[in-house]
Amino acid sequence: MKRIAVWLLFLSVFLAACGGAAETDEADGRLRVISTVSPITNIVYNIGGEKIDLSGIVPEGTNSHTFEPAPSTAVKLAQADLIFMNGLNLELPSLKMAQANLKDGAEIVLLGDQTITPDDYVYDFSFPKEAGNPNPHLWTNPILALRYAEIVRDRLAAKDPDNADYYQANYDAFAQRINDLDEAIKATTASIPENNRKLLTYHDSFAYFAPRYGYTVIGAIQPADFSQPSAQEMAALIDQLKAEGVPAIFGSEVFPS
Ligand SMILES: [Zn+2]
Repeated sequence: MKRIAVWLLFLSVFLAACGGAAETDEADGRLRVISTVSPITNIVYNIGGEKIDLSGIVPEGTNSHTFEPAPSTAVKLAQADLIFMNGLNLELPSLKMAQANLKDGAEIVLLGDQTITPDDYVYDFSFPKEAGNPNPHLWTNPILALRYAEIVRDRLAAKDPDNADYYQANYDAFAQRINDLDEAIKATTASIPENNRKLLTYHDSFAYFAPRYGYTVIGAIQPADFSQPSAQEMAALIDQLKAEGVPAIFGSEVFPS
């Protein structure tokens, strides 16, 4: 029950505001802000709130690693004052399109690249070093997500100083929720026997979450090219699950589990 409560808290921090990113033709004087994947859209909305005209270009439930923006997205990108992306090579087609269409005075902010240095990059099952792209999922670590929020606050305030206090107040509220979440995850982890603090995920997205809370990522099911695992790979995985005595499996709406 406690674990469920933590996950609900986790979801409420990262998903609750998703409905707020309305698309409008008229920005009515507000900053026009574009974001990419939904966790980033959510963080930007938590800070920018109603004072920005925010649009996320990667639809909810889409595989962001293989996402290619539609040609029409170029129009939106060309109107944006600020474009927030994860970076770390997650959204290369969208980044290329944004760079090609960037209006004068507009800015592209790569949050991940500003949050960690190459020394901190994690390479793993789905993101092998040979391929050159580090695991980009920084936001599953609440403290790194808070750093994203800090960068968002500063960029919004720089472009729109009249609302700097509003962005700061939203940041303060967000920081409080992040700290509560961090404490709740720590408390919940303490209730899991140490030997069970292992994660095997379909999609390899907990690389930065695991070390903060003392979990070990033992593998990922999804091949590095994001294709479906073969029947043989699935059979090997089932053997591994049995051998490790994995007590719980959780599904995802984005990937077939
Ligand atoms: Zn991912």
